[in-house]
Amino acid sequence: MKCKQITKSGTCCAANAVKDSKYCYMHDPATGADAAAARKRGGERHRVGHAGDDTKIPAHVRTLDDVLSVLDYALAECMPMENSIQRGRLLVAICGAFVEAIKVGELEKRLAAIESALKSREVTA
Ligand SMILES: [Zn+2]
Repeated sequence: MKCKQITKSGTCCAANAVKDSKYCYMHDPATGADAAAARKRGGERHRVGHAGDDTKIPAHVRTLDDVLSVLDYALAECMPMENSIQRGRLLVAICGAFVEAIKVGELEKRLAAIESALKSREVTA
């Protein structure tokens, strides 16, 4: 037998009724409070606290160091998440962003060294 509860959207609840009741476990007045508590516990179990320090995120991202700060935060937030395909994809994406940022940083350093070398040549010439 199906649950007799009419849902907020006006349709019948599709769950099976509990034995000796007209309602399912969620809608039976005898078990409804337990069900609500169980839902709340379930939600809390999946909630992960913040691991990253958001005070280290710059208000405006303008430099490579700012980008690295945001990536450090994203990585710290990702690590305590429950292991899943989404978490794995996020880790790979963060690593990719780190690689790109570090590459740009290396190029900036090399360009600065070349410019410095050229300037010292102009002075002596
Ligand atoms: Zn129901």
